[in-house]
Amino acid sequence: MINVTNPATGALISQVLEHTEDEIKAKLENGEKAFETWSSINAHARSRLLRNWSAIILKKKQEIAEVMTLENGKLLKESLGEVDYAVSYIDWYSEEAIRIYGRTVPASAESKRVIISRNPVGLVAAITPWNFPAAMMTRKAAPALAAGCTFIIKPAEETPLTTMKLIELAHEAGIPEEVIQYVNGDGAKIGSLFTESRSVRKLTFTGSTPVGKLLIKNSAQTVKNVTMELGGHAPLIVAKDADIDFAVKQTVLSKFRNAGQTCICANRVIVHEDILDAFSEKITEAAAGLQVGNGLVEDTDVGPIINKKGFEKIKSQINDAVEKGAEVLTGNAYSANEEKGTYFVYPTVLKNTERDMTIMQEETFGPVLPIISFKELDEAVALANDTAYGLAAYFFTNDYRVGTYLHDHLDFGIIGWNDGAPSGAHVPFGGMKESGLGREGGAEGIEPYLETKYLSIGNH
Ligand code: ADP
Repeated sequence: MINVTNPATGALISQVLEHTEDEIKAKLENGEKAFETWSSINAHARSRLLRNWSAIILKKKQEIAEVMTLENGKLLKESLGEVDYAVSYIDWYSEEAIRIYGRTVPASAESKRVIISRNPVGLVAAITPWNFPAAMMTRKAAPALAAGCTFIIKPAEETPLTTMKLIELAHEAGIPEEVIQYVNGDGAKIGSLFTESRSVRKLTFTGSTPVGKLLIKNSAQTVKNVTMELGGHAPLIVAKDADIDFAVKQTVLSKFRNAGQTCICANRVIVHEDILDAFSEKITEAAAGLQVGNGLVEDTDVGPIINKKGFEKIKSQINDAVEKGAEVLTGNAYSANEEKGTYFVYPTVLKNTERDMTIMQEETFGPVLPIISFKELDEAVALANDTAYGLAAYFFTNDYRVGTYLHDHLDFGIIGWNDGAPSGAHVPFGGMKESGLGREGGAEGIEPYLETKYLSIGNH
């Protein structure tokens, strides 16, 4: 039994049954069998079913958002926004479903014909994290179903309820039960069942880099196609000419959304030395003004940290930075109740940070903003690229030469130029280096669910 608790109050919300190994194996077999019929339904019918699903979700938007806030802790307005965001993937891929085109190629002999078609890969297994319980699911499920794949998901133990609700609504929308399924239980155990299974032809994962590496390794046993959306350590560069007020606003948006618990949150702010004091002062004022508390309360800006593990990691990164000489401009304050299991971190701004501090190397996943300064642009680029991660990077400048130089030299899959919120269903989301493999969203996001088949017709 998995206890699902509210991270803002510690209250038990629900108990979810863990599936046994036999049940999981049976679901994998059912998913594989269902592939035969689902993949042969015409694409227009699949597209219509996806549209039905998104319409039903929107009707239940408030209810889903409330469940999400209860299990995840994020602000209710962020949960409402996430339902829209999750639906946007279903809408986008309902339209892509009818645009999966093949090709014909001129043959090498008059008697031959060559046809290239795109076909669904088979049963897709997904493992998702707790920070976006709805959107991380639909951005995998929607392209998979649109392509003609069947789908099974293991949501995070912290937040299974939103996913379960969305799947219930998919069935209500007319998508057959075996076509989209969930299983609950321990990540490592289910991960092994997924990677070992020959029924599963593709694994798609969003979560931490160490778990992603393990899943890539284990997927080699059955040569599974994988998509990995792993950790990040986003740099945010503020150039000398930047509009400071705008940069501060966007940095707050990028850093403190979801209490800093997103993989594309700015993790390091790299500011030109001439504007360091002005930027630091303004961002400190903005951060100190944010209200910390329960996401269901209207005025809250920053909700709880998901669990003790996350809290301890954030705290140790702040302590490490302070011990190594960082100056605390605001924050380094906490409200934790071990007995209830509730953990809040007050928005924290750190100045005089250095490359050797843990916070400058490891993902923080919390509302902490370390600032470091630069003089020459190539120094900012070197600092920004000095990481094993390559997910998102941001920069603020109105000088197009600075902007194009930064775009050319930053090794990141997602770049926000004067934009602290670059996500969307219509664009390819994903990272370079140890931040992952493949892209989700946009025209690229359906590719991982398709296999290429080439037909050569001879001697007619
Ligand atoms: P976090 O530390 O943010 O929870 P994880 O990568 O541990 O990040 O978790 C993301 C998802 O991966 C969750 O659904 C979790 O249950 C699952 N998970 C954790 N460990 C493993 C594992 N060894 N194999 C497969 N999935 C795992």
